[in-house]
Amino acid sequence: MRDVSKFLSGFRRFQQNHLGNRHGMYAQLVQQGQHPRALMIACCDSRCDPALLTDCDPGDMFVVRNVANLVPPHVQATYFAATTSAIAFAVHNLEVEHIIVMGHAQCGGIRALLAHKDPTCNEEELIAKWLGIAEDARRQVLQDLADKPDPIKAHACEQAAILISLENLMSYPWIKQRVEAKKLALHGWYFDMNQGELLEYQLESGEFEVLVPHLATDG
Ligand SMILES: [Zn+2]
Repeated sequence: MRDVSKFLSGFRRFQQNHLGNRHGMYAQLVQQGQHPRALMIACCDSRCDPALLTDCDPGDMFVVRNVANLVPPHVQATYFAATTSAIAFAVHNLEVEHIIVMGHAQCGGIRALLAHKDPTCNEEELIAKWLGIAEDARRQVLQDLADKPDPIKAHACEQAAILISLENLMSYPWIKQRVEAKKLALHGWYFDMNQGELLEYQLESGEFEVLVPHLATDG
């Protein structure tokens, strides 16, 4: 197994950049507490760190990460409390103004959902139970894109699962109420790591549209 020295040297750089200054940003965050304006629900995937992807500062974003960036529906809230309690804390205690569900290309969780293998051990059972939250996305994609190649299905399922999570968020009365009062806005983002761009679900078109295009190259 590779050692963790890379993480330790990284922490030393972080110390130098952020923790050394008594009047710096971190000192303020420690004294005044955190007041993030957004909750980001992202995948555990090691290529999808929300803070890195958005280049935001400590204190900017409250983050929940789970396999395939899913939100359980309200009826299952207590069963999947790790995710739902973090959402409750962000909305109720921190009073965030935005919730962003950020899915991504190449999602292993969504691929596993599509593959739909019968679990053969406890580990697989746990994953399958969790991914079952997005079962409707799988069913829809297999029905609509039955004759399409797997990568097209995966892409569609990654995006459909984001919409399920947004729908599920609205099943929480305390979220619905804040959204209707315009105190809270929900966003569905899709990080396309193949293209190097960020997309957002647009209610008007019913599609994911480019929010930040890929960098133009010289050819
Ligand atoms: Zn993923």
